[in-house]
Amino acid sequence: VGRHHCFLVVVGGGLTGLSTALHVQESHSGARVLLLEAGHIGAGASGRAGGIIVNHAAVPGSQEDTDYLYRMIDELDLDCGLRRLKAPSSGALHEYANPLLNPLRLTRSVARRCLEAGVHVHEISPVESIANDGGLIVCGRDYQVHCNFVVLAVDAYAHAFGLFSEELQVTAETCVAVRLHASARPSIPWNYYEETGDAGKYVWGRRLDERRFLFGGGEEILAESDGIEPRPDPEVIRKLARHLPELASAVPLSLWNGLISSFVDGEGRFRQVVDPRIWFVGGYDGYGLAAAVRAGVQIAKLLEH
Ligand SMILES: Cc1cc2nc3c(=O)[nH]c(=O)nc-3n(C[C@H](O)[C@H](O)[C@H](O)COP(=O)(O)OP(=O)(O)OC[C@H]3O[C@@H](n4cnc5c(N)ncnc54)[C@H](O)[C@@H]3O)c2cc1C
Repeated sequence: VGRHHCFLVVVGGGLTGLSTALHVQESHSGARVLLLEAGHIGAGASGRAGGIIVNHAAVPGSQEDTDYLYRMIDELDLDCGLRRLKAPSSGALHEYANPLLNPLRLTRSVARRCLEAGVHVHEISPVESIANDGGLIVCGRDYQVHCNFVVLAVDAYAHAFGLFSEELQVTAETCVAVRLHASARPSIPWNYYEETGDAGKYVWGRRLDERRFLFGGGEEILAESDGIEPRPDPEVIRKLARHLPELASAVPLSLWNGLISSFVDGEGRFRQVVDPRIWFVGGYDGYGLAAAVRAGVQIAKLLEH
């Protein structure tokens, strides 16, 4: 990547970062916007999520978030397989019929719109630190970028930058997607959640569609500034299979182990950290796809002033 100067550096290529980059690029025509992703686009929660679009009563702005997401999918012709499902009426544990989409396809599709709009997107470019010599400098192993603003859209991994004055609420999460045997399909609940009895630990499951089930578990922890490594919970499959024995022999399709952050100050979205030119955007828990997309619009408006 080398040495550069730009208006905005967005750190993180999930939905928050991509939506931020796209909206800032559109509202600041001609400005140089750079997005740096440690791995590949959608490598984090945005590419791994259940894809359930929820209007969550306890989450401020949730209705506006989902309305905006549907409009953006339509207007930008985003490829994400959005569809509405009928909930099964089989006496499952918690039934609902929320709209469902493929989160990785959505994320990649927003990335394509970013490239078309002129955003400079770099994968395999982990940001290691943010320095301040009067101007802001975003540093990686083989690059330095001078910029006017930084948006940290790295979700729970923001703690690694040591910019927060207090601990960030974080969950270490392991999840596995499995293919459902035809014989198991009628008895598997649509939506499943249970606290395991160990403090702060839980397991959950969600139907992705008729043939696939996503299940996982997590542990609430506090991220300290010296960093934490996510630990896969080796017990997660056994714990879930205790309640859903049909899944014990299901074929795994993918596994993810990582961190997600919770709401900060009771509400996600934005906060300036340490320096008024550095924004943290994120912290949406398990209802974050629509919130992440709309946060990008909101931060773009803030940067206009
Ligand atoms: C298992 C699971 C299921 C979920 N299910 C749902 C659901 O059904 N519905 C829903 O609405 N929400 C769901 N969510 C929540 C939703 O996925 C997230 O809230 C949302 O995707 C967060 O987007 P983000 O862009 O902020 O974070 P992420 O998608 O995690 O993006 C952060 C990016 O930052 C990158 N990064 C980290 N550190 C650095 C660095 N130093 N330098 C550069 N890049 C870096 C990461 O590689 C990652 O790509 C789920 C989350 C999980 C984990």
